[in-house]
Amino acid sequence: MKRRKTREVRVRNITIGGSSPITVQSMTNVPAHDFEKTYLQAASLAAKGCDIIRVAVPDEDASGVFDFIRRRGLDLPLVADIHFDYKIALACVRAGADKIRINPGNIGSAEKTREVASACREAGIPIRIGVNSGSLEKKLLEKYGSPTPEAIAESALEQADILESFGFSDIVISIKSSDTAKMIAASSFVASQCDYPLHLGVTEAGDSYTGLVKNSVGIGSLLSSGIGDTIRVSLTASPEEEVRAGKEILRSLGLYEGGGINIISCPTCGRTKIGVIDLTSELRKRIADIDAKGKKINVALMGCVVNGPGEAREANFGIAGGDGFGVLFKNGDTVGRVEEEDIIPTLLQMIDEYICEI
Ligand code: SF4
Repeated sequence: MKRRKTREVRVRNITIGGSSPITVQSMTNVPAHDFEKTYLQAASLAAKGCDIIRVAVPDEDASGVFDFIRRRGLDLPLVADIHFDYKIALACVRAGADKIRINPGNIGSAEKTREVASACREAGIPIRIGVNSGSLEKKLLEKYGSPTPEAIAESALEQADILESFGFSDIVISIKSSDTAKMIAASSFVASQCDYPLHLGVTEAGDSYTGLVKNSVGIGSLLSSGIGDTIRVSLTASPEEEVRAGKEILRSLGLYEGGGINIISCPTCGRTKIGVIDLTSELRKRIADIDAKGKKINVALMGCVVNGPGEAREANFGIAGGDGFGVLFKNGDTVGRVEEEDIIPTLLQMIDEYICEI
């Protein structure tokens, strides 16, 4: 997969774009005025492997949350999400935010953008131009009649031009829409017109079922054509779910550079000899909090000994179902047979031993 060439944008200790790993973002969903709760949620996201955390800041009073989180010792990039009032952006820069996200549709005049750009330049932090099809500038809606891909792309590129005219080019662009096809078309167009890194996501996508499908299609299709440098899977679910989903999308394309446990399980069919559906869901739950310590571990749960052994052999650990038992594989070799009720404990033990191996 050839990745689109972009410039690099540094956000605290992480680089977005260039040949840097594609990062996973999420957003806190507790009120930013509650610094302690926001910190606890950010810490939980960090523990789940979130690379960049965004916080919606509704007013200047809430901007202190960045300083608070930093003083509590969380050392990952924190992004201030700003709508309407550029003064909140200025307050967030002062409070130590590592990136400012502004929405060209509602930030106001170019003069206000100039002030934000100048504060960000002084602080050495980038700006994300976050265009959302639901809040496009009036003049573009009038020009195009509706938030077409052309209209949302134009909004982003115009804002980038404005920032460039102030000598500011430390920019990441995102084009979001709840319409997957629109988001793909607009992001592809922006990608062809500039070399700024792109943040991808389908917004207001729905719950962890429909939202995951839309984001996988939207983000996945762009990533598979080499477009995209950081992602956020918007879900009507917990932010931790978003992180998990983001990592799975990257993993499915071989773009996830961190460790983790990847489950390969068959869809089941008339040949299935063990309870693959329940076993897979049980394994998924039991591995949720395991820290793979940077190791990539594939575990296969297959329902029969007809097609199962092939996949089970390819994985680090695998099961191919027999009648009420599983044939156990380890790194390509058959190493025994386990009763169905012992399958999960056995796999967990093998995973644990592998993680602890030096
Ligand atoms: S692995 Fe076996 S049980 Fe599972 S879907 Fe394939 S043929 Fe069916």
